[in-house]
Amino acid sequence: MNRSNVLSIENLKTYYFTRRGVVRAVDGVTFNVGKSEFIGLVGESGSGKSTLGLSILKIIPPPGKLVGGKIMFNGKEITHLNDKEMRNVRGKHISMVFQDPMTSLDPLMRIGDQLIETLTVHQKLSHEEAKKKAVRLLQSVGISEDRIKAYPHQLSGGMRQRVMIAMAISLNPELIIADEPTTALDVIVQDQILKLFRNLQRKLGMSVILISHDIALELEVVDKVAVLYGGWLVEFSPAEKIASDPLHPYTKELLKAIPNVLLDDQKLVSIPGNPPDLINPPKGCRFHPRCPQAMEKCRKEEPCTIQVKDRLVKCHLFT
Ligand code: ATP
Ligand code: SF4
Repeated sequence: MNRSNVLSIENLKTYYFTRRGVVRAVDGVTFNVGKSEFIGLVGESGSGKSTLGLSILKIIPPPGKLVGGKIMFNGKEITHLNDKEMRNVRGKHISMVFQDPMTSLDPLMRIGDQLIETLTVHQKLSHEEAKKKAVRLLQSVGISEDRIKAYPHQLSGGMRQRVMIAMAISLNPELIIADEPTTALDVIVQDQILKLFRNLQRKLGMSVILISHDIALELEVVDKVAVLYGGWLVEFSPAEKIASDPLHPYTKELLKAIPNVLLDDQKLVSIPGNPPDLINPPKGCRFHPRCPQAMEKCRKEEPCTIQVKDRLVKCHLFT
């Protein structure tokens, strides 16, 4: 692991052991997150994005299990930490923002009190100090002091998500994992929240993994994009290279589905076919039934992950 990496994931495997069979939701994923890096994790529904996020925090719901690989955080292996040890990592070092703030906020508690409680418990601040910090945190996400006494239901969806971001940054974590934080919001609020995230990330120097099914949205804010397909990481590249010169055929297909305002007669295409069944994934390359560039080899052999300069790609076209 490079010293400047906050997170390093090696050959990570998380499976769900269901009655129908074993779902290989994350199946051998490897990538690094550098200090102060903003990473986008993108892929269709069911590609394993959320499972990967939950695996890093080790909060995989049953019947899911981390069955292989390694997670290094700040140079220390956290793969086998027990629940008590992980509680020291969560919140303080790695925190998560979910799509629906109501799953994380207590509906019966004023937002200020929720922040104050976190700060007094984890940072051992006095009530007065915690209150001052809670006001500062809320202001940093664009919420004025007079809203500190509001209950979550008295705020709009966008405001609630801002509170969640304030909670997530309250303990100065090195890494935030945000799982579709803006999906439920309208486009304008979505844009405001993403910009807020980006500004805070730069100001505070933290690393962020932003999970989204929307590659266009990711490309607006992230430094690097990790593309997941059927539990595999198929491409990992700097955002500007993904946009101008995508390597993996699946990344190319994802980009074709983005509207380009500069092209009047652009035809938007959705990717034909369905995502793979992760209990019985296709043999060889999991993308081969939908890949316009599939070759004979692709139906038989799993491609290796190849490093191409500063990029990773899992495809026979590069071997
Ligand atoms: P979405 O964008 O729809 O949230 P995703 O890319 O985040 O999708 P995951 O939710 O991680 O994907 O799901 C990956 C695979 O694991 C899917 O096949 C899904 O059906 C399966 N899966 C997820 N959660 C569970 C669970 N609790 N039990 C069984 N299978 C699950
Ligand atoms: Fe397409 Fe083959 Fe590459 Fe898979 S390995 S993406 S099927 S060309």
